[in-house]
Amino acid sequence: MIHVNDTCIGCGVCGEMAKTIFKVEGISKVIKQPETPEENIACQQAIEMCPVHAISNEEPTKVAA
Ligand code: SF4
Repeated sequence: MIHVNDTCIGCGVCGEMAKTIFKVEGISKVIKQPETPEENIACQQAIEMCPVHAISNEEPTKVAA
């Protein structure tokens, strides 16, 4: 699951790289989870490009019950 934490500085990079996934208004918000291979690749690139490493991709199994 793609998640943006509160260290986001709102630089806008992820919104440019994955327009269908992130909406940057002040800070970045995940507007939907990636569904297609293209969206997964775009998310992976956004994770790598984020200057403050605010984006993570956590497995749903890690969510506490
Ligand atoms: S790339 Fe990182 S710092 Fe920039 S808007 Fe996206 S989550 Fe925030």
